[in-house]
Amino acid sequence: MAINHPLQCKCGTIKAVVNDPRSANRVVCYCRDCQAFAHFLGRESDVLDERGGSDIVQTLPANVTFTQGLEKLACIRLTPKGLVRWYAGCCHTPIGNTLATPKLSFIGLVHTCLETPGKPLDDAFGPVRSRVNPDSARGTPKPGAAGLGSIIVWFLSKVVWARFNGDYKRTPFFVAETGMPIVTPRVLSREEHETVMNAVRAAAR
Ligand SMILES: [Zn+2]
Ligand SMILES: [Zn+2]
Repeated sequence: MAINHPLQCKCGTIKAVVNDPRSANRVVCYCRDCQAFAHFLGRESDVLDERGGSDIVQTLPANVTFTQGLEKLACIRLTPKGLVRWYAGCCHTPIGNTLATPKLSFIGLVHTCLETPGKPLDDAFGPVRSRVNPDSARGTPKPGAAGLGSIIVWFLSKVVWARFNGDYKRTPFFVAETGMPIVTPRVLSREEHETVMNAVRAAAR
């Protein structure tokens, strides 16, 4: 079984490996904010499935090791309190979503940066176990919510444990001394937010 899985942006500037891929949890999230992130990057056709879902691999940041291009990482927040959404500044490939603090240690990696010829995500990380925020999916009938239990089990067994054993401190996305993101997230302006949410609504029709 593979001990790691490659992560890279579309242009190949940013490269990383995701260790212990089998410990990850796969979720499809249909929420409007995940859709908005894909639209913001102009990557909606690569990122979103036909129902507007984003295939997300939840893992511990401690499992992500950058081998090149870390200085090209950029991040935004859709709103002042929103998730920190990381992407490749070079080519606008989405990387993943974290909280604004390293203490709750998880990153939801967006599938786009994990797709590797000959290494299907199902083989590396296992199948999608959960579907969340189906009310925001495009079209009808809405997909059913599924697998909330497996997210909770994953969260308790991995994220809470990382907080206890100190693994949360091992993260390439935050500065160890300050607990601040390695680059300051840019919060979208009200106008930018409105533009991107309008794009989400337009795509839903
Ligand atoms: Zn790139
Ligand atoms: Zn979402």
